[in-house]
Amino acid sequence: MPELPEVETIARGLAKRVTGDVVQSVWLGQKEEPLKSPSSAIAATLEHRRIVSVRRMGKHIVFDLERDQVYVTRAPAKRRRANRKPKEAQTSSTAQATAGGGARATQVPYAQWVVHLGMTGRLQVCEAQSEVVKHTHAILRLSSGRELRFVDPRRFGRLSVAQAGDFDAAGVEPLEADLESFLTLFRGRKTPIKSALLNQKLLRGVGNIYADESLFRAGLRPRRRTSTITRDQLARLLSAIKEVLQEAIALGGSSISDYVNSDGEEGFFQLQHRVYGRESEPCLVCKTPIKRIVIAGRSSHYCPKCQK
Ligand SMILES: [Zn+2]
Repeated sequence: MPELPEVETIARGLAKRVTGDVVQSVWLGQKEEPLKSPSSAIAATLEHRRIVSVRRMGKHIVFDLERDQVYVTRAPAKRRRANRKPKEAQTSSTAQATAGGGARATQVPYAQWVVHLGMTGRLQVCEAQSEVVKHTHAILRLSSGRELRFVDPRRFGRLSVAQAGDFDAAGVEPLEADLESFLTLFRGRKTPIKSALLNQKLLRGVGNIYADESLFRAGLRPRRRTSTITRDQLARLLSAIKEVLQEAIALGGSSISDYVNSDGEEGFFQLQHRVYGRESEPCLVCKTPIKRIVIAGRSSHYCPKCQK
């Protein structure tokens, strides 16, 4: 299952490829599971929209959409011309296009396409004539002549639209959390710290692997009761979480295209794990065998000597 760093990498790869492109038409498959919004609502929201940005929110990929000017037929002619002028004057630089988009956002209806990849979902950007592979559930035809396709063999992925552009994933974004908000999230909780880290209502998108790796770097045992962890230790934990996620994102940055276009499930990069999946192997710091325990049904790995 793609974790936060993989989703971030995929979102960045998609942003490079499809920002500025316009969705001309949408085809949706018959399988109901991947469609969290009604298919008619998805199609109506996506068609004739320009993709102004693609970004990650938690483990969701969010496409920010604005109505494409070409299709705004009801606007008075004068106003339309006024809108078009600054746009033509602009170069194709993304930065400038984004700056211009900000000014227009108040006039132009704004919406979002929200994709969760689930276990096996992937988004492909391909030429229209490329073969449509099995388990394709959505095809967005783009004005560039390419297609953006959602493929998901196991159908745990989810597609939805936020028609008012107000999608909000629960929880705090770990890479943006400051110490005070992080402390507030965890203060007084009686659950094991590992469970608290996996609680998506607190932190967005920290999965099992990155929780174990962060706890190792912070020197905290996964079963440690959250309320007994000191402020300094929580500060170290927040730094460790950011460090681990950023390292993984940096590793993924060099091979973005593989994640977007690959037809196989493999290709997700992996951090050099220090504890995750290393049960009985020597700790890289002190050589004590790594232990594996189960907390809330999930495997947790730690060094009994380095982590308290
Ligand atoms: Zn150790």
